[in-house]
Amino acid sequence: MISRLFYFPDPHSLMTPVPLPALFVSHGAPTLPLEPDVPAHRFLASLGNRFPEINAVLCISAHWNTPGPVVNAIMKPLTIHDFSGFPQELYRITYPAQGDPDLARRVAGLVEAAGLPCDTDTGRGLDHGAWVPLMLMFPSAGIPVVQLSIQNHLDPARHFALGKAIAPLRYEGVLIIGSGGAVHPLGDPTVALGKGIPTGTWALAFNEWLNRAVTSGDMDSLVRYRNLAPSATHAQPYPDHFMPLLSALGAAGPGAKGTILHQSWYWGNLGMGAYEFR
Ligand code: ZN
Repeated sequence: MISRLFYFPDPHSLMTPVPLPALFVSHGAPTLPLEPDVPAHRFLASLGNRFPEINAVLCISAHWNTPGPVVNAIMKPLTIHDFSGFPQELYRITYPAQGDPDLARRVAGLVEAAGLPCDTDTGRGLDHGAWVPLMLMFPSAGIPVVQLSIQNHLDPARHFALGKAIAPLRYEGVLIIGSGGAVHPLGDPTVALGKGIPTGTWALAFNEWLNRAVTSGDMDSLVRYRNLAPSATHAQPYPDHFMPLLSALGAAGPGAKGTILHQSWYWGNLGMGAYEFR
């Protein structure tokens, strides 16, 4: 009875809401949503429950690669099936989340304010780097989704800066998700991928290095990963799938560290690591 009489909300807490973390997830292959027994599928299917009250998702996907930053400003983004040679049922999947043009303009404004010219695209939908994890995380598709592109210079420091520019969104109920691959050797002809393939020692070594750098918040090393990480050219031969990790780290703000949310291997050598940065 007396608790109400003596309860005074802390005005400070109203002034400084707790920001959302920024996430990095590995999306694997487009078939992941059809494979409920795969550990990364089960992980992503449970991850959305941790964020019951977000306003929107801003996804930085490895599969939208443009010369400069672009954000999609569209109310009804179509589901893009940006792959070939997969089972027909994959091409029938749609993820009908709404877009959020107001948020897109806010994103473009923040990126521009950081000195990075940013375009808006009023026609682009959601690629599988976005909808694969999101349809597992938020299957009802009730949360608006906006995408921000990576840039084809694939420069780690500039992708870190891109993330830094959008950091204020974490205070506005926007869940920033970088979607790529922790170990992503696609394009390296010497690396085998497929069911039953054992994980290479080089992949394990890169992943271990990455975990150490992420959990210690070693931004300098992460930006210089190509020179410092073991087997970096096997693990990320064309590092489009690594750039979203750097943007997520940048979005988490100065001094951020990562927590390992998930680790598993898919097709032998695709590292499915997921991290939360705060
Ligand atoms: Zn991918």
